[in-house]
Amino acid sequence: MSAHIRPDLDAIPAYVAGKTHPGAVKLASNETTFPPLPSVTKAIAEAVELSNRYPDNHAIELRGAIADFLGVQLENVAAGCGSVALCQELVQITCRRPEDEVLFAWRSFEAYPIVTQVAGAKAVQVPLDGEFTHDLDALAAAITPNTRVVFVCNPNNPTGTARGKAEIVEFLDKVPGDVLVVLDEAYFEYLRMPAEDFPNGVELGRTRPNVLVLRTFSKAYGLAGLRVGYAVGAPEVITALMKVHIPFSVSRVAQAAAIASLEARSELLERTDAVVAERDRMRAALIAAGYRVPVSHSNFVWLPLGARSAEYGAASTEAGVIIRPYGADGVRVTAGDPHENDAFLRFATDPETVAR
Ligand code: PMP
Repeated sequence: MSAHIRPDLDAIPAYVAGKTHPGAVKLASNETTFPPLPSVTKAIAEAVELSNRYPDNHAIELRGAIADFLGVQLENVAAGCGSVALCQELVQITCRRPEDEVLFAWRSFEAYPIVTQVAGAKAVQVPLDGEFTHDLDALAAAITPNTRVVFVCNPNNPTGTARGKAEIVEFLDKVPGDVLVVLDEAYFEYLRMPAEDFPNGVELGRTRPNVLVLRTFSKAYGLAGLRVGYAVGAPEVITALMKVHIPFSVSRVAQAAAIASLEARSELLERTDAVVAERDRMRAALIAAGYRVPVSHSNFVWLPLGARSAEYGAASTEAGVIIRPYGADGVRVTAGDPHENDAFLRFATDPETVAR
């Protein structure tokens, strides 16, 4: 590496995005296959007309719309260039020393170790349990005096598993007040659990100033291409986040699209039922073909294929369906539209594939 660049960067992996090929079915990035609604594209077009002007740096209208929808105050909401930017900013506002620890389960969202190491802090990983679910007892036990922040991805990417409210509350009660708990709810809208155990981080955070919730417009709201996510938490945390934001990092188009999407949310959220039905259909077909597939609460399924994962991913690409292999752990397959999912299931349930 060049002498200008800090030497430790060599050891930090770059974020690897889901691949894409013209003509291939892409089930690799947990996107939605539904196109934006006409009301959203109209808002986008209107915002484009004003592109010579900077956007609102504080995203007041968008944050206000999110606050109204969630029943919180403007001061409780920050917007970011995707929730991944907020992950990075959360580490920036909590960690300063090399011994500062960022704790999270593994496997979980691949950006957590990257943003931690880029900030010069220490990533501490706690293995998922045998059901590919957060081991919250082990996570709580791994907290040290150096722990600054804990990311809990619920539902978890890439395994799709989730913890219910009672389990999350039990965990939160064990975390010292000076440790920030980030409940990353990127897939919140795909969660289906009984109301009494439904783990809604925003509700859990109302009485806990050390809880911060991340959500995004990239998944159920279908705006992955525009990059907008948000954080909900105590005003002090939100103010700190806004200090480290890159100025104007949420574009005018992204802000307008997100506001229009919130206005159309009942229609957009109805779409999640179709995705959930497809996800469950895929899971059932895969289980019938002999795969182990953990219960998913998100818009994807996890196949814990171990050492076969890379080769399996390559074979799926070869068959025209791009999925996402994760080292020697497994592959993640996004629920797309029924035809796309059928294309994957044809590959996956082919006796030749099963026998691999
Ligand atoms: N958190 C989790 C768990 C994710 O899976 C993702 C996207 N893959 C993100 C955050 C970031 O999403 P975005 O930046 O598009 O909001």
